[in-house]
Amino acid sequence: MGQSDHAAFVALAPALHPRGNARRRLRDSLAERPVNAARSYPEVRADFRRPLGDEGRPASEVIDELIAVADPGIVASAGPRYFGFVVGGALPAATAAEILAAGWDENAWNSVLSPAAAAAEQAAADWLKELLGLPPAVSAGFATGAQSANTIALAAARNHVLGLAGWDVEGDGLAGAPQVRILAGEERHATIDRSLRLLGFGSRSLELVPADSNGAIDLGALRARLADHTGPLIVCLQAGNVNTGAADPLGAACDLVHEHGGWVHVDGAFGLWAAASPSLRDQVSGVERADSWACDGHKWLNLPYDSGFVFSAHPAAHANALAYSASYLVASGEPEPGDYAIESSRRGRGLAVWAGLQELGRTGVRDLVDRCCGLARSFADQLSAAGYEIGNDIVLNQVLVSFGSEDETDRVIEEIQRSGVCWMGGTTWRGRRYLRISVSNHLTTEADVTVSVRAIIAAGNGTGRRHHER
Ligand SMILES: *Cc1c(COP(=O)(O)O)cnc(C)c1O
Repeated sequence: MGQSDHAAFVALAPALHPRGNARRRLRDSLAERPVNAARSYPEVRADFRRPLGDEGRPASEVIDELIAVADPGIVASAGPRYFGFVVGGALPAATAAEILAAGWDENAWNSVLSPAAAAAEQAAADWLKELLGLPPAVSAGFATGAQSANTIALAAARNHVLGLAGWDVEGDGLAGAPQVRILAGEERHATIDRSLRLLGFGSRSLELVPADSNGAIDLGALRARLADHTGPLIVCLQAGNVNTGAADPLGAACDLVHEHGGWVHVDGAFGLWAAASPSLRDQVSGVERADSWACDGHKWLNLPYDSGFVFSAHPAAHANALAYSASYLVASGEPEPGDYAIESSRRGRGLAVWAGLQELGRTGVRDLVDRCCGLARSFADQLSAAGYEIGNDIVLNQVLVSFGSEDETDRVIEEIQRSGVCWMGGTTWRGRRYLRISVSNHLTTEADVTVSVRAIIAAGNGTGRRHHER
């Protein structure tokens, strides 16, 4: 890349800062523009769909046009009042680093292709382990997200537990292999099921263990299920239920599963970040005793997509589950980024992680997590005071709100989404419909909560108070 290209990317990067150069209007206007898209999906689709020209066009013209057609179809999910799903935002330095990674266009498969990309991953991995309270010796892979991280971790688990039973699953596959028992809490994330399916286990091989009212696995029930168990065993635990934020009793469950020779995988897509906060760390205590972990960068850490992490206390199982080789590949003799992730050619994913973590610092990570939880608590307090029922114990950054009947709750959700003031989704939790609020963006302030609560109460037409008085 020439010097001028490099300069252009560097110049573009700060312009993405929310308070930066007005040229990147979308990023600048995140806090002010309506949260929902200006045009409907069919309209946006029609704008994009056009005949592909025979001749090429100047890059700047194409990009201007791309911005023009995309802008009305962009949801301000990177902004401070998007509370749907669990999406986070994108920190300025991390976003700039991501743009640079795209501009540099290096392949992060190994240190021969890009010393910089590989070094960034190694450095960022050390910081991540420290922040998440994981043992320094665990292997780390930079994945596309927690779905990919769960899949990689469970592939390592499969390698390990079948290896202990004398079976080489990488060589011989699963046909004829000893039976692997796989258990998870009934409120696990759906990506666990998909990972198991992709690994050839089949969704019916998953044994569900009852969970308590906030979605954490019932330890007594798990103990009963494992009572006489011997043989290959994988137990999938969770830190951060997507509806309630609840974490399973991780330390005790790890000890129990290990007594039976099993592998514990922890899906901590966003909830593992509780470990970075002294006031929340108790919720995930003992998590360091697990065998593998999945965590996201693009959710609560506020990194751009696609960014997730997979760690394992068994680096050899991690690498062996993913190993591949070809005659033209150069082996450095050292662990390489490509040994711990599923992609071969890939972007320098560690660069944005490195930049985002430096931008926040240790205190900044802790504050981000604490602040989001405080704001979630504020949502719950204000909506409860307005007479609405809160459907979960507020342990983290997730809040469920009912507006009475199922129909009324769905009507309110639709009205909030139409308002453009804020965006929240709906969910069904324990058989009831709820408005689901997730606070995970570094830009969100108490003022955003106040404005959003007002919009929610307006959409609810004061039914909460009436409900309350009855
Ligand atoms: C979001 C989420 C996932 C999936 O993560 P992606 O990054 O979307 O692949 C898995 N588990 C939990 C608990 C999640 O919240």
